[in-house]
Amino acid sequence: MEGKKGRVFAVGLGPGSPGHMTGEVLKAIQASEAVIGYHVYLELIEGLLAGKEVFASGMRRELERCEKALALAREGKTVSLVSGGDPGVYGMAGPLLEINGKQTEPVEIEVVPGVTAACMAGAVLGAPLMHDTALISLSDLLTPREMIKKRLRLAAEGDFVTVLYNPGSASRSGYVKWARDIFLEYRKKETPVGIVRNAARENQEKWIATLGELADYSVDMFTLVIIGNSRTYCSGGRMITPRGYAL
Ligand code: SAH
Repeated sequence: MEGKKGRVFAVGLGPGSPGHMTGEVLKAIQASEAVIGYHVYLELIEGLLAGKEVFASGMRRELERCEKALALAREGKTVSLVSGGDPGVYGMAGPLLEINGKQTEPVEIEVVPGVTAACMAGAVLGAPLMHDTALISLSDLLTPREMIKKRLRLAAEGDFVTVLYNPGSASRSGYVKWARDIFLEYRKKETPVGIVRNAARENQEKWIATLGELADYSVDMFTLVIIGNSRTYCSGGRMITPRGYAL
């Protein structure tokens, strides 16, 4: 007789507060016998983990986590593989599907979306993502630096609102500065820029600055930067990109 079929839910917890986790993600985690993730994210959902097998690992262990999730699912278990924000935006859904596609015994995978940091930070700042937007990660861990610069240049030239994920870390302190310099070739130095740290977490901080001032702010791996397009403006402390209506 065939045993119970396992599966993996690639879930996104949202930006950090329980209220921003979707009902479907909650259901998937509750239905799972095993939960795998970066330990910082698992700490956010500690209360949901009682009675489950839990595999917490450190940063940069993404592929191991995918392998572990697939192995447990092959044993017949229902597994949640956890990402912060959305699993499909610089998260675990991609590598999981890629690795599964190479297996002789692929398992069933369901991607369950979450609120990505861009949406949360956008809400904190006002409505900066109201028009065409590019998401660009400044991390050169998996992407050549020249490619990142090319995408920044084209996003700037194309007048996209641009969200910078992974804008900096201790070892990448100058990266927002070169992003700023590229954008200054195409956009005014008064262009509004929003900076949100720890969006939807207890220690949330936000600043609305200008493109010219961007390098004066220190950014880290808990920070997201949103550069407005040529029409973005500030009103009443909020950052707004016009939708296009004549008002
Ligand atoms: N899958 C995640 C992104 C992972 S990349 C998502 O969809 O949000 C990690 C980067 O996302 C961080 O370096 C930071 O730039 C951004 N980020 C994630 N959560 C954040 C939060 N709560 N506040 C601010 N930035 C956040």
